[in-house]
Amino acid sequence: MGRIFLRRANLIDGANAPRKNATVVVENNRIAAVATNGDAPKPGANDVVYDVAGRSLMPGMIQCHYHVAYDNIGTLFDLDMKHPPTMLTLIAAKNAELLLRCGFTGAVGAGTLHNIDVTLKRAINQGLIPGPRFMAGGRDVVTTGDSVDFHPSWWKMQMEGLGLICDGPDEFRKAVRDEIKQGVDIIKLYPTGGHGLAWPADVMTMTLEEMKAASDTAHERGKKIRGHIISKRGIMAALDARLDVIDHGDQMDDECIERMAEQRTFLVPSLYFPYMMAEQKRREGKASFPGVEEMTRGLEHSYLTLPRAQAAGVKIVIGDDFGTSAMPHGDYAKELAAYVNGAGIPALEVITWATRNGAELLGMGDELGTIEAGKLADLIVVNGDPVKDITVLQDRAKLDVVMKDGKFVECHLTPGKAAARAA
Ligand SMILES: [Zn+2]
Repeated sequence: MGRIFLRRANLIDGANAPRKNATVVVENNRIAAVATNGDAPKPGANDVVYDVAGRSLMPGMIQCHYHVAYDNIGTLFDLDMKHPPTMLTLIAAKNAELLLRCGFTGAVGAGTLHNIDVTLKRAINQGLIPGPRFMAGGRDVVTTGDSVDFHPSWWKMQMEGLGLICDGPDEFRKAVRDEIKQGVDIIKLYPTGGHGLAWPADVMTMTLEEMKAASDTAHERGKKIRGHIISKRGIMAALDARLDVIDHGDQMDDECIERMAEQRTFLVPSLYFPYMMAEQKRREGKASFPGVEEMTRGLEHSYLTLPRAQAAGVKIVIGDDFGTSAMPHGDYAKELAAYVNGAGIPALEVITWATRNGAELLGMGDELGTIEAGKLADLIVVNGDPVKDITVLQDRAKLDVVMKDGKFVECHLTPGKAAARAA
């Protein structure tokens, strides 16, 4: 099979300033060459050449807080009582395909039930269904009476819902080992309330000892662990327990930032959810959500702290609770605009969060996340310049190419004959 040439691209490679008139050559599933200034290899008779004509070529994006099995969640009970496992798995498969077609070639799970992330990951990797490279999440590992332990006791549910309820370090160790046995790659804890949950942010719903037991157990078996953490106290506890990812982190301050940078802890600010909630409140004049006031304060705080975290070298990635009623699947790239327009982070840096940093969290920083010779060919071509206008990434009609592992998932460009184009 011949190579694929993508010529005359505005190259946003995930590491450097954009470069005009670039040629990217894909051979099998890897990037064989990246060239500017006319030093590209010449296409042969079997090669297929596409004229990108000044459109932007960048790495595939990575959604790092993904709930593939959230289906239009309006109440807590929608999380695990809305569909039987078989139906929910099919819905999730459609979501995974949609994510990929939106230009996200990678995903990191942030909580799922019925082991759907693991099932999808296996089906995707076997070529059974289309979907992103997937680091599989599992159930929400929580304590008795935590926000996610929401089924009333008298229902005598006896079902495997979203929450996996543990008390004491031993139960956490057992839960984490069991999740890993089921194939989960990244454990999700809920150490604090806040950010939309029933308990407020300053309530710790698990102890440091429980967090440490879970974290050590996950790391011992080479897996990652993340946590829904809002308060400063929660962030410091997560750093003490050496969690890999802090989700939300609304009340982060300079002391947290310094330690997160030093420990190379990933941060998922997920500003889009509070941004949407605040917007909705402004539009409708009332809060649709009990925690919206607290969340709005968190949002304004994040607008100030995120530029400082970026400057300090904290590994920031993107991802949010898509699949809730306020923010449907398919809107994934709208989150990037919240950082550019809300927090004032330059678009090129936000693109790096969505690509290079995401690849590092996936554990594939050497293989993905930038457009460089030798790396796996996960890339997109967008008709516009996302560095000038980040919103072009939201419009699927402008997404002319989505390529994963060297294969086109979407391609709306017309191939030219290599020989005819070689001159
Ligand atoms: Zn979430």
